[in-house]
Parts: sequence; structure tokens; C-alpha cells
Amino acid sequence: MALTGLQIYKLLPQTNCKECGYPTCLAFAMKLAAKQVALDLCPYASDEAKETLGAASVPPIRKVVIGKKDHKVTLGEEVVLFRHDKTFYHATALALGIGDDLPEDRFGNAVQSISNASYERAGETIAVSMIALLDKSADTANYAAKAKYIAENCPLPIALVSEDPERAGAAAEAIADAGGLLCGAKTDTASAFAEIAKRNKLPIVLRAKSLEELGSLAEKVASEGVKDILLDPGLSSQADILNHQTQIRRMALERQVEGFGYPSVLSIPEDKDPYQAALTASLGIAKYAGVVILPNWETWQLLPMLTLRQNIYTDPQKPLQVEAGNYTVGEPDQNSPVYVTTNFSLTYFMLSSEIDASGEPGYIVIVDAEGMSVLTAWSAGKFGGEQVGKFIKECGIADKIAHRRVIIPGYVAVIKGDVEDSLPGWEVIVGPQEASDLPAFVKEVWLEMKI
Ligand code: SF4
Repeated sequence: MALTGLQIYKLLPQTNCKECGYPTCLAFAMKLAAKQVALDLCPYASDEAKETLGAASVPPIRKVVIGKKDHKVTLGEEVVLFRHDKTFYHATALALGIGDDLPEDRFGNAVQSISNASYERAGETIAVSMIALLDKSADTANYAAKAKYIAENCPLPIALVSEDPERAGAAAEAIADAGGLLCGAKTDTASAFAEIAKRNKLPIVLRAKSLEELGSLAEKVASEGVKDILLDPGLSSQADILNHQTQIRRMALERQVEGFGYPSVLSIPEDKDPYQAALTASLGIAKYAGVVILPNWETWQLLPMLTLRQNIYTDPQKPLQVEAGNYTVGEPDQNSPVYVTTNFSLTYFMLSSEIDASGEPGYIVIVDAEGMSVLTAWSAGKFGGEQVGKFIKECGIADKIAHRRVIIPGYVAVIKGDVEDSLPGWEVIVGPQEASDLPAFVKEVWLEMKI
């Protein structure tokens, strides 16, 4: 039977020394109860605690870290099937492929392109996670040299995609300082790959013909001393991928089947057309793949996939937020418009980009609404006329402008009267409902008003 946080707490030293990374033993106990951490983070756990908690304290999906540099990738430790039940912890790592047979200049350019593939969205940087080195040349010295080149010229972890133990082993030694991932072990080569994994302290991806074989293979490789394992069901059709990725997750979380308690991998077949490849990769991001390997890729595929990943791996209980306060877009002056909205990140970034597009600098007053969007915040009682009026009075925006006008979002036109009641002497203007209509609003309404 699962132990509660309090029951686990009673087994801990209760000294609150913080060495586990948590401020108190109780906080650590709660994490243990949720199976989000392992007991070995506490160096002072007694033998009794270890015996009692034992496997019960181990997250059902093992944490696996790939790479040793700043950009290392952490996978696993997931505890729910559905994001809305809690959250997903470690985002899918997107690995883009490069063939080792590319001429040197093209190879170098491709490494740089992948290293630089990142975008700013909703105040965060979303980026490609890994480089997948594809064994195309079948030349051991060349494969190892290309792996070494990536390790020396790119901060991202390297996935060594080779089914040949000799070439994979040579490349693994070449990237010893950077770390990476061995991708290519099958049932008949798993033991050879396991030796390479142990020698070089690398996680290993296992592939088998069926789920049953994959689970057994994982148990066998684990018994040979390799703990950091990833599971690749190796399928092509989207229906099969969805089915098997889901089954792996279910068997880990619901039935706690030993051979399935690892992150999974989705390898996109090389011959998929680019649209199908992007769709299939998105399926993997949405449904449980820890790593998606895209051997052939085009730049246009990246932003939609990374955006999807950002949306899925945002904690639904902690929406992306910006701090409450006054913000500027461009260089506004005392006659510039003042927009008011909530502190939901996406709302703020969409509004600021449309203000920028309008060509008319402006101020944005961000009201703390616990990260909710405008309509949600209003219906939850966090963005009413009184709150908006009170914050406008306190935030100091009145010192920056000569006029006394504030523009509220069109979706909450209903709060206009209450804002006016809270802000005597101010004119409250109802703006457009959609941020995309703001440039037209500025031209047709704001610029037509006399300051
Ligand atoms: Fe408590 Fe152990 Fe964490 Fe120290 S390391 S705070 S004793 S759980």
C-alpha cells in the first residue's frame, strides 16, 4: 500500500538539513509520496527507512540524464497519464539528424544550424535538444571523428544512431567528456551495446520487435548492470505509435511493470515525407515520447513542434506568468495609450506584439490575476473593475501620462462601469476583443481621439 507523505516523514531524520535539495524533511517526504524523487537523495536515511520505503519510493519511470554539459537533457520521473491530472515534468527532447557522410563544410553548417535552432516564445526560449548522428558512411573512424567534432563544437548532447556496436563504441569513446545517448541496440546486439554503455557511462536505447520482447530486453539489460535505459518500440504507422507509446506509459504507471519503467523514444522513419514526419513527431510529443529523433528535417518543421512541446509541458497549475506592473512597448510618451490586461504570459506577449505592429508606442498595465487569461480571470473574480481600478491607482502609471484614459480588453467590456467608479476622473475605453484587431483600433479609435 502506498505511504502518505506524513507516514514517510516519520521515517526520515527530521533534521531539515536541506541536503536532499528540499527545504524540509516534510517537503521531501511529500515528493517521495508523489514518487517524484528517490530516497537516495537523502544521505541520512536510516536502514529502516530504506527497507520500508524501498521500491515504493522510486518514481515509476526512471529519471535518465543525457549529456554532461549545460544543455543536458533530463527525462522520466513522470507520474500521470494526463497532464491535467498533475503536470508532465520533463519535456520531450527533440533530436535532429545529421548524416556522417556529409562533406565537411556542410556537416559543420548543419551542426551550427541545429545548435542555433531556438526561438523566443511567451518569454521563454524554446530550442532543439539534441543532435542525432546518423551512421551513413559505415566507416568507424569517420563516425567517431564526426561524433568528436560535434562534441567539441556544439553544446547539445549527441544521440549516436548506429546499429553497429563497433562504430557506436568508437564514437562513444570519442564523446566521453560530453556524454550522449547510444541508439541502436536490438535484441541480438543488446549485450554488446550494454558493455559500451557501462564502459562509457551512457544511457542506452533498446529496440525490439514487440512490446513483450522490449520489456524483457529491458529487464535483461538492467540485470547486466545498465540502469539508464530508454525504450524504442520502433514503429512506423501513427496508429501503432500512439498505441505502443501509450501502452508503455500505462504499464509503467498503472501496473508498474519493471521492464517498462523507462522513458521512451520515437524514431521517425527516414522515408516519411516532411509533413507526415512533422505530424508523427508531434504525436510523439503529445503522447509520451521522451526523445523524438527526426533524421531528416526542415527548418519550417521546428517552430510548430517546439510550440506544441512548450504548451504541453507547461504546468497547468502554474500558467506562464509575467509580473504585475507597468510595461512599455517602444518609447511611449505622456500622450501614449495605456492598455490594461492580466498577467497571463501569452496575453501579454500577444498584446505587446500587436502594439508594436500598430506603430504607436504604448504602456501596458499588467494586473496580477494569478496567470489567468482575461475572460477566465474575470469569471474567477480576479479581474473585476475594482481590482483593475485599484491597481491603476497604485502602479504609478498616472505619473507617466498627461491624459487619463485607459483601454480595457473588449472581452470584459462589462467591467467598464466598475472601473470608472474606481477611477474617478478617468475615461475607460473598451478595446478590441482580439489582440490582432489592435492595430486597426489604434488607427481608427485612439489616433482619432483628441488628447
Ligand atoms: Fe531531511 Fe534527509 Fe532532506 Fe536532510 S537530506 S532535509 S535529513 S530528508
